[in-house]
Amino acid sequence: MIWTVHGLRYKKWKVNVKRSVTCSTINLFNKMLQRNYFSWAKHISSLVNQGEGRKGLFLFHQLHKSGVDITEFLLSAVLKACGRLQALDEGRGAHSIILKYGFNRDMVLMTSVVDMYSKCTCIEEAHQIFHEMPEKDVVLMNGMIAGLCRCGLASDAIGFFYGMTRRDVASWNSLISGLAQNGNGGKALFFFKNMRLEGEKADLTTMISVLSVCADLAALVNGKQIHGLVISHGFELYIPVGNAIIDMYAKSGCMEDANQSFDNMPIKNIISWTSLIVGYGKHGLGREALRTFDQMELKGFVPNQITFLGTLSACSHSGLVQEGWKIFDSMIHTYSLKPTMEHYTCMVDLLGRAGQLREAHEFINGMPVETDAKLWTAFLSSCCFHMNVELTKSVGDKVLELKPQAGAYMLLSNFYGLIRDWEGVAKVRRLMLDRGIRKENACTWIEINRRVHAFESGDRSHPLYKEICNYLEGLIKRMRSHGYVPNTNMVAQNVDEHLKEEILLGHSEKLAIGLGLIRTPPGTRIVIVKNLRVCADCHTITRFISEIEGREIVARDASRFHQFKGGICSCGNHW
Ligand code: ZN
Ligand code: ZN
Repeated sequence: MIWTVHGLRYKKWKVNVKRSVTCSTINLFNKMLQRNYFSWAKHISSLVNQGEGRKGLFLFHQLHKSGVDITEFLLSAVLKACGRLQALDEGRGAHSIILKYGFNRDMVLMTSVVDMYSKCTCIEEAHQIFHEMPEKDVVLMNGMIAGLCRCGLASDAIGFFYGMTRRDVASWNSLISGLAQNGNGGKALFFFKNMRLEGEKADLTTMISVLSVCADLAALVNGKQIHGLVISHGFELYIPVGNAIIDMYAKSGCMEDANQSFDNMPIKNIISWTSLIVGYGKHGLGREALRTFDQMELKGFVPNQITFLGTLSACSHSGLVQEGWKIFDSMIHTYSLKPTMEHYTCMVDLLGRAGQLREAHEFINGMPVETDAKLWTAFLSSCCFHMNVELTKSVGDKVLELKPQAGAYMLLSNFYGLIRDWEGVAKVRRLMLDRGIRKENACTWIEINRRVHAFESGDRSHPLYKEICNYLEGLIKRMRSHGYVPNTNMVAQNVDEHLKEEILLGHSEKLAIGLGLIRTPPGTRIVIVKNLRVCADCHTITRFISEIEGREIVARDASRFHQFKGGICSCGNHW
């Protein structure tokens, strides 16, 4: 339906609209004209709450055009829709109507204006209106904290928070979830601790936020403690909290606990099932994911697009090609769901990973929708992995044409480095420079004694950096006698071998594992999280370490989980 088309302005929308839809819209509008102001506002507000903000804005536009008096309540619903849709132009329009009608003395309405600007990441405008307001209540201040975080101004948000004379639980929630969205999970947990120390009682929103922080950081010890708090506060019966707990355990590498928490939920929804399926998939437990999918169907739950994406991805990580095809087919024919680009990308990944490069290529060529850079990058990744030089080069050229994200450039430049085609490396690097694309810095986290430590590649800032390096060097010496050879191909720089080895040693995942080795008792399981894919050399080293040191090491990277034990990784060296 035309209502689902986002981002279109009304005029353009009217040109595109089909006659039948126009008629139904006009009918709806005519019906609305027979209503009173309050019921219009209520209707628009409920549309916004149901996620149909575009529809709400369209009706508002029609009402305004028809010369009907506008009320504060109506404008408040419109501002909410603009904020959610990040529809800045429409939001500005609503703001000017507020000024025109003299509603700007309405504190609640102006709070909505500030909120709208901050949701549209126009923090300066939000700030200006905030300063002009004669009274500043806690709701307004909380909105500013969220807005500052949304604009990436976390330290300003913290300063603002400290400057508040009165705070409520929503103030803490705004800061905690804002910091988490900014990638400052460690700080979010710090403020959660302070919140408890100051005697502020956490609510459902707090619990869901901090559980998701723990999930992102694989901060299992913190996560378990919060799980305990959830039980003691009596929150465990709430489905979103239960789902957040499943996700936290799954992302922290504990599928057994995730499964247990799932079983303990008295009422589940489709998100609960999806979280479990996604968890199994990321752990390379494709069969378990499929078994869960079957159970879900038997219990009468209807999978959605995210469930299918998780299940397809599970098949992909476990090399279950036939099963993947079956799932893809059932999505379209049994559940009548239209595959999105992500589903197609997942299918390409599934075929490509399994080495069926020709089939993947045919699949792409037969797609009924236009392909994008992400899909081609997934294919490129498989071509590189299977070392099909010709195909990698031609697909690489195609990907570069589509102006992909930084990861594709890195993939290609590493590939050219691997085949020692330095000209190729230089070409890709030059293109990156010309297009102003910056390589995403690799970063790895590890939680030790409830503190989260973050390492970037080549990062020497950790107080124990020297100790970590000494320990790793000692280990590498021992590994060499066990057959380890540094994979200097992972360094796509034309420098001498010695320097390449030094660069390899500074990889963020090695530093994090090194810290885990020296700061936790022998035999303790080590869990690390990396923002990008783990590199082949770090993968090999981690396998050796798990054997030599007798440690179980769990590494979660951008793609999946690797569980290293006794020199073997659960991914079977394919990720
Ligand atoms: Zn590495
Ligand atoms: Zn692995």
